[in-house]
Amino acid sequence: MAIMFRNSYTRKKEEFRPIESGKVKIYTCGPTVYNYQHIGNFRTFIWGDLLRRYLEYKGYDVTYVMNITDIDDKIIRDSQANHIPREEFTEKYIKAFFDDLDTLGLKRADIYPYATKHIKEMTDLVKVLLDKGIAYEVNGNYYYRISAFPDYGKLAKLDMDGLKPGARVASDEYEKDSVSDFALWKAWQPSDGDIYWETEIGKGRPGWHLECSVMSMKYLGETFDIHTGGVDLMFPHHENEIAQSEGATGKKFVNYWLHGEHLIVEGKKMSKSLGNFFTLRDIIEKGYSGLVVRYLLMATHYRQQLNFTFQGLDAARNALERYNDFIVNLENFSGGQSNGAAVGIIEKAKTAFEDAFDDDLNISAALAVVFDFIRDINRLKADNDLAEDEKIKALETIRKFDTVLNFTYKAETIDEEVENLIKQRTEAKKNRDFATADKIRDDLLARGIILEDTPRGVRWKRKA
Ligand code: AMP
Ligand code: ZN
Repeated sequence: MAIMFRNSYTRKKEEFRPIESGKVKIYTCGPTVYNYQHIGNFRTFIWGDLLRRYLEYKGYDVTYVMNITDIDDKIIRDSQANHIPREEFTEKYIKAFFDDLDTLGLKRADIYPYATKHIKEMTDLVKVLLDKGIAYEVNGNYYYRISAFPDYGKLAKLDMDGLKPGARVASDEYEKDSVSDFALWKAWQPSDGDIYWETEIGKGRPGWHLECSVMSMKYLGETFDIHTGGVDLMFPHHENEIAQSEGATGKKFVNYWLHGEHLIVEGKKMSKSLGNFFTLRDIIEKGYSGLVVRYLLMATHYRQQLNFTFQGLDAARNALERYNDFIVNLENFSGGQSNGAAVGIIEKAKTAFEDAFDDDLNISAALAVVFDFIRDINRLKADNDLAEDEKIKALETIRKFDTVLNFTYKAETIDEEVENLIKQRTEAKKNRDFATADKIRDDLLARGIILEDTPRGVRWKRKA
């Protein structure tokens, strides 16, 4: 079956056809590094990773690019408030971002271009737009004239009739009702302090939208296959990326636009500005592993909103446990007598797994397939109806699935999770909250981990 994606640009499910046979080029808008990313941001990055992993599973050679926004209004504001030079300030959050990607089991992108390392390419694009009469300058600021690009508003389906000609907006983020000419380049102003670049078009810094057009085209070509991001980026960010790139090249910028829904908390988007967010670190401190967070954030289809709850995390932990127990127990199974059913179960699972992902990355259907497969193989095993060669085929199958899912426990993540829970239990005992302390002990015991209070602190071991 062909891979189908729901393309936000056409609002239709379309068959995926890469520009170059066997190769796929993907761009995802990356983090703005002025703080730790929250788990809502990671939801978007995780389905980007899932998309890339599935295309690789299908045999495509994928080039995956994610930018690092290391210059913007918030970075200037917060680095100055903390009296830390911009580069040093952003470095800390870039490192944290990569650490978090590892904790969540994301594969590294092929390239993480930094905005500040592409200033020349950005001013070059402004010059092209100036030459074409699409950009114009006002007091050292450069704006994009949206009336010069007839397709403006096609992605976000804007009604352009009520537009006020000549209205300009300097800030990078704005709502649909203030659609207007947007800033490509911002002239230096005293509040920017020492944060500026001296360039051929003057002293200043790039707007946010410009960097994604420039860096995606530099590394993936003027037209590339897939661009992803959260729905909040559709307007104005992606609309402006299209206007800049297509305005400059006259070519189609992106063939498939994929937008993911938000992680929400009590009906509202998880966001820094609302303050209703958890960083990955907040969740890890509560005793959950990165893998549990990965499972929770990945298990809902990317185009559906996901409501964050701790019950959801607990359910994710249980599902992961079932998945991992299956693999370990199967590895330890010594093999029985075939009743001939295994081959059919394996073939059916493989086909259904691919059918699910081919259908616009339908993870919920894919996970149902995986857990049905686990149940069916477990049943054969329980009845001793699984022969050694069938067991090996079943293991190969789940390991192949795992190249997409990446749900298998890594030794260190269990250790980390248990250590965190022990810390919480010690804290609870200190606060005379014995109910919580006992619950943590019992929960761990249920997972086969025994705690021992020793004079040198708490030790843990696995149940034999
Ligand atoms: P930002 O650093 O704010 O530019 O966001 C980085 C990415 O995270 C973008 O693709 C956003 O769309 C995405 N994002 C932000 N908040 C959420 C959320 N609550 N749920 C899912 N994705 C989000
Ligand atoms: Zn972007």
